[in-house]
Amino acid sequence: MPDTSFSPRSVDEIASYHAHVYFSPATASHALALRTALARRFSVRLGRVHEAPVGPHRASMFQVAFETALFATLVPWLMLNRNGLSILVHPNTTHPRRDHVEDSLWLGTPLALLPERLPETQEHADMAGPVNTTPDLPPVS
Ligand code: ZN
Repeated sequence: MPDTSFSPRSVDEIASYHAHVYFSPATASHALALRTALARRFSVRLGRVHEAPVGPHRASMFQVAFETALFATLVPWLMLNRNGLSILVHPNTTHPRRDHVEDSLWLGTPLALLPERLPETQEHADMAGPVNTTPDLPPVS
């Protein structure tokens, strides 16, 4: 008998996305170059560079918060330009732990997270927040 219990979730649950770009001392220059190149092409909310692990992240990284409409250009751009870096792309819904661990995708080598540092649920999904980049190049260049 087919399993009839499957009830799909709607992508409308996704309020925004994050991309977390991880780096080590050896790849920090790649990560900072990617950060600058990204900021010149995409209207996003770029987080500051965390040299020390923060939250569920066990390596140095910076965060990119972006609107769902940008997924189809920003994620392929990261695919082609990650230059060996590991990048976690996750949706933001009201289930933060699941967003990071079960419903995410990795570009490059996946890294371990500390999911216990994330709440299983929260009342409101994280929005992308105010854009803080001022692109001067088209995304496709
Ligand atoms: Zn995140």
